[in-house]
Amino acid sequence: MAATVIDGKAFAANVREKVAGHVSRLKADHGITPGLAVVLVGEDPASEVYVRNKGKQTVEVGMASFEHKLDASTTQEELLALIDRLNNDPSVHGILCQLPVPDHIDGDTIINAIDPAKDVDGFHISNVGLLGTGQKSMVPCTPLGCLMMLRDHHGSLSGMDAVVIGRSNIVGKPMAQLLLGDSCTVTIAHSRTKDLPGTVRRADIVVAAVGRPEMVPGDWIKPGATVIDVGINRIPAPEKGEGKMKLVGDCDYASCAEVAGAITPVPGGVGPMTIACLLANTVTACCRANGLEEPE
Ligand code: NDP
Repeated sequence: MAATVIDGKAFAANVREKVAGHVSRLKADHGITPGLAVVLVGEDPASEVYVRNKGKQTVEVGMASFEHKLDASTTQEELLALIDRLNNDPSVHGILCQLPVPDHIDGDTIINAIDPAKDVDGFHISNVGLLGTGQKSMVPCTPLGCLMMLRDHHGSLSGMDAVVIGRSNIVGKPMAQLLLGDSCTVTIAHSRTKDLPGTVRRADIVVAAVGRPEMVPGDWIKPGATVIDVGINRIPAPEKGEGKMKLVGDCDYASCAEVAGAITPVPGGVGPMTIACLLANTVTACCRANGLEEPE
């Protein structure tokens, strides 16, 4: 039986609609407009697309968007001075610095300079520690989006075997923490994992966050398992014409969809959820900053 396709695009639209509702209530009842500041240093084309989309969607849900595009030659001190200003600006409730930053700037220093209460990416060391100890934190957007879709599909995840492929600080590790928090039995696989196919075959839930196009074939998937494909890989698509490209995930969609119980497509799966969760985190940060009840 073909897998259920988890429609991240529709799910994200629903999240954005809820966020827009919270924003209009914050404005009407409290006179507060949540604000998100996005900082981009340099001219990475992919980052520019992400930042543009973030700004557009921020405005669409009624929030204030503050974009800071800095020259690639910006010094670390100048960037830290901007972060300090944003930390102290009461109209800014969320701050994110688009990664990667140029080589002469230390990304960790910048992330850890953001006020943890405004760290809507959830990458500040305090938020990482709070998440790891099961305390209230800012949760990284991509893994949060994956968790929301998994909870929606399964209800409870308790007792399920989950394998996360990839151990990055922005996806793999926080994803594993969230699944553990929902009482899954979690394995984190990576490039040194000895028997990756055998490890993945045990999983009721597979989250692939590797960055290698179509690396996971269908015969690694346990029949009926749920496959969450985080990967975004641009590969040549000669079938579309000369020089054309297409996006694929880390899983071979066609063969995985034959075996899985449910699967997220690429594009249209995890990707749209990431920005939706960023907007939701900004509303959460705004509510916390103002001592108001935060949305679920
Ligand atoms: P990283 O490059 O930081 O991490 C990749 C991980 O994959 C590493 O832990 C690495 O292991 C592991 N890995 C690499 N090769 C193999 C292999 N052959 N077998 C098993 N594990 C392997 O990537 P990110 O976590 O930043 O991103 C992963 C993917 O998710 C990318 O395609 C990225 O574009 C996408 N992404 C999508 C987002 C979205 O919104 N949908 C947001 C963020 C990322 P090791 O640690 O041993 O090197």
